[in-house]
Amino acid sequence: MSEQANPFESLQEQIDDASAYMDVSDDVLERLKHPERVLETNLSVEMDDGSVEVFKAFRSQFNGDRGPYKGGIRYHPGVSRDEVKALSGWMVYKTAIVDIPYGGGKGGIVIDPDDYSESELERITRSFAKELRPFVGEDRDIPAPDVNTGQREMNWIKDTYETLENTTEPGVITGKALDSGGSEGRVEATGRSTMLTAREAFDYLDREMEGASVAVQGYGNAGWIAAKLIHELGANVVAVSDSSGAIYNDDGFDPRDVKDHKNETGSVSGYPGADEEFSNDDLLTLDVDLLVPAALENAIDGDLAGDVKADVVVEAANGPLTPEADDVLADSDTYVFPDILTNAGGVTVSYFEWVQNRQRFYWTEERVNEELERIITDAFDELVETYEETGAPNMRTAAYVVAIQRVVDAYEESGNWP
Ligand code: NAD
Repeated sequence: MSEQANPFESLQEQIDDASAYMDVSDDVLERLKHPERVLETNLSVEMDDGSVEVFKAFRSQFNGDRGPYKGGIRYHPGVSRDEVKALSGWMVYKTAIVDIPYGGGKGGIVIDPDDYSESELERITRSFAKELRPFVGEDRDIPAPDVNTGQREMNWIKDTYETLENTTEPGVITGKALDSGGSEGRVEATGRSTMLTAREAFDYLDREMEGASVAVQGYGNAGWIAAKLIHELGANVVAVSDSSGAIYNDDGFDPRDVKDHKNETGSVSGYPGADEEFSNDDLLTLDVDLLVPAALENAIDGDLAGDVKADVVVEAANGPLTPEADDVLADSDTYVFPDILTNAGGVTVSYFEWVQNRQRFYWTEERVNEELERIITDAFDELVETYEETGAPNMRTAAYVVAIQRVVDAYEESGNWP
């Protein structure tokens, strides 16, 4: 997270922006601006050389009005209490906009995982799982992967929890490997919901996806799968980037070939089919039909936003636009489709994983993709309907209106606990 925006303040600002288009009292809204609880813990873990190191870790449970808390666990040196609180709040609205029966949570450990061996990471993860044990459970709080965590860490957490609880409860965590109770379609889910949102956005705006020019920032899980699936719709992926820089070809790339090159060399740079190579900022300001930021938070700030020329932006990353960038683009001709819908494929297929775990009945990939398509297109329709009905300044505010209303309805129907 960059220095310029405190993510927790950004979250609160987004809620205030949406409140202007809703009939919700200030006191109910105030509830939605703060987490219900935050666990802060210090893990003391034995290193390979016998020494003991202490790691700060957090789990924020933001709101559980619509169901158990749900959200990932990240390993990053920049993890902080405020970042975890903000990310857990965004999960509340992400699960609400796609209408899956969850609240929002998020956790993290302040660590650069590259500095530790696999056995150290396993002990660190199991230590965190032990601390989390009283707070999580398939009906309480269900963690998942986030930055620098994946199937391996999820499998360790599941195993630690099940061992300590003397049970089998694979639904305590999602994003597991298939053999440990994971779901088909989970790996592609975020890229797939990005493609579905882009497809629906072009349809809504009466634009042709066939032949549309597309730039994708970030070529990791979300970005590369989005590029592949958008290419399959007939679009021209003319530019992609990763942390090494950007590559461009006016006729478009085959994203699979670029991925093979990245697998072989470690980056997209140097891809032989590229006409030009340039910086990441240049990619973000290309005159394309569709821009997909799929790398980091705050990739586009207020200054850069003035140079964005894409007609449609579909946010695969979490928070790629600063609030200033949002304001600049709201006053422009660019349509921005917000992260809480676009990248909700990940949490939606996590939800399918949890349903399958609880039923001990596993679906085909085809069924997963069909159910995901239904959820994303229904959420998209609800979003544009609200955008038109409320006169909200942009799709993000409209998305918050839909999501906040769902949380408020659940709260008001249940009543307030004294
Ligand atoms: P990843 O680590 O697989 O990929 C990140 C990519 O971004 C890498 O290719 C990296 O080289 C690139 N990158 C880093 N810095 C860059 C820069 N300055 N310019 C251009 N590229 C840069 O991560 P991911 O899982 O694809 O996640 C990407 C974003 O999507 C994150 O914001 C994440 O929170 C969000 N997201 C991912 C998922 C998921 O299921 N993977 C779900 C929801 C949201």
